[in-house]
Amino acid sequence: MTDELLARHRAVLPSWMALFYDEPIEIVHAQDRRVTDSSGRTYLDFFAGVLTNSMGYDVAEISDAVRKQLDTGVLHTSTLYLIRSQVELAERIAKLSGIPDAKVFFTNSGSEANDTALMLATQYRRSNQVLAMRNSYHGRSFGTIAITGNRGWSASSLSPVKVNYVHGGYRYRSPFRELSDAAYIDACVADLVDVLETATAGDVACLVAEPIQGVGGFSAPPDGLYRAMKEVLDASGILFVSDEVQTGWGRTGSHFWGIQAHGVVPDMMTFAKGLGNGLAIGGVVGRGDVVDAINAQSISTFGGNPVAMAGATAVLDYITDHNLQANCEARGNQLLSGLRAADNPLVGEVRGKGLMVGLELVEPGTRTPNVRAAKQMLEETRARGLLIGKGGLHNNVLRLGPPMTLTEAEAQEGLEILVDALAATHAALS
Ligand code: PMP
Repeated sequence: MTDELLARHRAVLPSWMALFYDEPIEIVHAQDRRVTDSSGRTYLDFFAGVLTNSMGYDVAEISDAVRKQLDTGVLHTSTLYLIRSQVELAERIAKLSGIPDAKVFFTNSGSEANDTALMLATQYRRSNQVLAMRNSYHGRSFGTIAITGNRGWSASSLSPVKVNYVHGGYRYRSPFRELSDAAYIDACVADLVDVLETATAGDVACLVAEPIQGVGGFSAPPDGLYRAMKEVLDASGILFVSDEVQTGWGRTGSHFWGIQAHGVVPDMMTFAKGLGNGLAIGGVVGRGDVVDAINAQSISTFGGNPVAMAGATAVLDYITDHNLQANCEARGNQLLSGLRAADNPLVGEVRGKGLMVGLELVEPGTRTPNVRAAKQMLEETRARGLLIGKGGLHNNVLRLGPPMTLTEAEAQEGLEILVDALAATHAALS
């Protein structure tokens, strides 16, 4: 059944579409934090559709809100007409952002949100020079591929913007990794200054950064790095764009937006994924003067449509009503301490914040990326009934991003499977 579907997938969908597992899974049913595949096997889900089904599956409050909207008969009219739920959600997000006089524009994906931020920043600054972080991922549109600092995910080397990359987001393989937190921040800021002075003409539009690199392997730089960088940028009027596509809505536990851990109020933030809990939604929230920087008309046919707005509003209510930010912090700490205690020689680093936990797998006793172990871990965890993610520059990082509603018992269950699978992988590869 899956073999047949896989053959048809290969025949008709592009060869470059990534698929997990030697025998990819077709999910046909889902409930809470568990998904069932076409063979009837059920898995505890520690990846949540790449941090997208952040509330879990079949959440009555969210499904009911979407159904109620569909029952009005208005699936879509056009964003050329007033949509009350769009205005109300924009008001809430503008307030939550902490950005003064903020305005919001809704899109259908994270790529589109980042592309919009790039368009606004370059227009506002009248410059197409952009800074991005090494090892970053910002999407698959032409503009966001161009600023993605990971060639493995950068399908085109042609570029509509002039990009320079700076150090900072990924410490484990940084030349500054041995330094203390404070010295690491100083070194990264010195690198930023050097890039600005030697590789750009000075009139850079913006720096785009993920507070915790997602595709890059859940790598969180020391708190305060981005505040120090922003001070340098502010001196030249360069805008700071925080890509919160993975880190927004409380997932990092300590803060509602990932960038708040750095004491930074950015000029713009982009969001997507978790806000829709599976519905296609994204957007930009930013300083009103920056968002209003374009002087031609521009709309998105589906961005901000009534169905997405109904779902996203219900998600935001659900996050607040169930105090999910605090749950992310508690469950994240449970996973981090449990994995650190396991002390498996394949694990070079256990890192992350809240429910973004990464395990950098290495050849024991070295820093050499262990790609084989990561691949094997995906299969070993699957065989034990757990879905996890994989990523990192070298594809050797395991990524744990369960729904934000994860319970203590489920965290424990996942932890035990991971520890057991690590031992089995270590034994198999030694
Ligand atoms: N930014 C980040 C940080 C992401 O992780 C992703 C998706 N993995 C994107 C942008 C792109 O989002 P989308 O796939 O919705 O276009």
